[in-house]
Amino acid sequence: VIGIDEEKPVFRLPSVEDYEDLIGPEAVTRILSKAYALRDLHLINVNSTYYGGGVAQILSSLTLMMNAAGIQTGWRVIEGRPDFFSTTKKMHNALQGDEIELTPLKKKIYEEVVFENAARMHLDHDVVIVHDPQPLPLIRHYRKQSPWIWRCHLDMTNPNPELWDYLSPFIEQYDAVVMSLPEYAQKLTTPQRFIMPAINPFSSVNEDMSDAEIDERLAHYDIPTDLPLVVQVSRFDKWKDPQGVIKAFKIAQKEVDATLVLVGNVATDDPEGQEVFEAICECEEERIIVLSAQDTALVNALQRRAAVVLQKSLREGFGLTVSEAMWKGTAVIGGNVGGIRYQIVDGENGYLVDSIEQAASRIVALVQDEELRQRLGDAARETVREKFLLTRLFEEWLDLIGSFQA
Ligand code: UDP
Repeated sequence: VIGIDEEKPVFRLPSVEDYEDLIGPEAVTRILSKAYALRDLHLINVNSTYYGGGVAQILSSLTLMMNAAGIQTGWRVIEGRPDFFSTTKKMHNALQGDEIELTPLKKKIYEEVVFENAARMHLDHDVVIVHDPQPLPLIRHYRKQSPWIWRCHLDMTNPNPELWDYLSPFIEQYDAVVMSLPEYAQKLTTPQRFIMPAINPFSSVNEDMSDAEIDERLAHYDIPTDLPLVVQVSRFDKWKDPQGVIKAFKIAQKEVDATLVLVGNVATDDPEGQEVFEAICECEEERIIVLSAQDTALVNALQRRAAVVLQKSLREGFGLTVSEAMWKGTAVIGGNVGGIRYQIVDGENGYLVDSIEQAASRIVALVQDEELRQRLGDAARETVREKFLLTRLFEEWLDLIGSFQA
């Protein structure tokens, strides 16, 4: 592997063996033997950003684990002008239920930019995995000789029917569609599979941190630690409901003293992020802090130090931030939507909420009761260890890819 000095290894790929203490030696052997059976394959992933959302987070870890296990796995990102990403963000929103005005101009921008990317990409791999709607029509431009899989990460509870009718002919050229949850299944001729995402416990967002390291990160951003921290970590996106978080926090503040920190980023394929960020900045107060930071160690520190982490989404394909905080033994309050419902079992390892008022009362209860936080947090970490570690995701992909090789 490039980047390793034989004498003194500086970098190494994250491997399945690293998980032995977490998943046991039998699981490690089973997964590696499945990977071995696919060792001659050359896979490629295509998405629309290297940074800023859950898809990039998953790909950065999963592609390395695949390479470490001997499967050559690449990752390419499509390029596009701002009008392309503004169109695809509208599509993203419409797949999550918004209206969309699907004009001939929008279709032209979308299809033309994807065609131009197709001309540059030369996708002749053994398996091609295309993520989300942005690069979806790539498949039209190849004489397909191997399995192509469309991996949709969105909350598909209620996709806009007009957009679905437009995208379906592209989707139906694929050999399989993978969505996060069974309830996202659509009317399609293509076989559908369901694989929930997972977290890499050794990544910079999730790796262990000492108290001193946490203090240092929080101090660096002048985050006060004199009161309990209530935190939401999310892209600046309306579906994450940052305004709802602020409203819930203000109600809770009538009964408890705490500091709210909203930390987020703007993915390169998300042109609406800046506007959402500016709108919530207007809500800043002494005890309501809004930070736009490209700092995974800060995310890690906040998820660890928080008394309560919120993920009050209104739509959520899966919601990696939920498992990330749960892994750190932190009590999480999640919106009762999409993939969050598969991670949090209400009252056992966190809380699910349907309204601002419910979120507020759960914030109050958790801030007031350290024992409750501890009980939920301990159960949360165990849930993630059992269900949401990267090795489980890797194995499900191996099974799916293996099914095409049979
Ligand atoms: N994230 C981050 N910095 C931020 C906000 C988010 O590194 O300021 C990471 C977060 O830790 C998580 C991912 O981005 O790994 C977001 O994934 P999620 O599935 O929660 O939501 P998405 O952005 O894909 O809708």
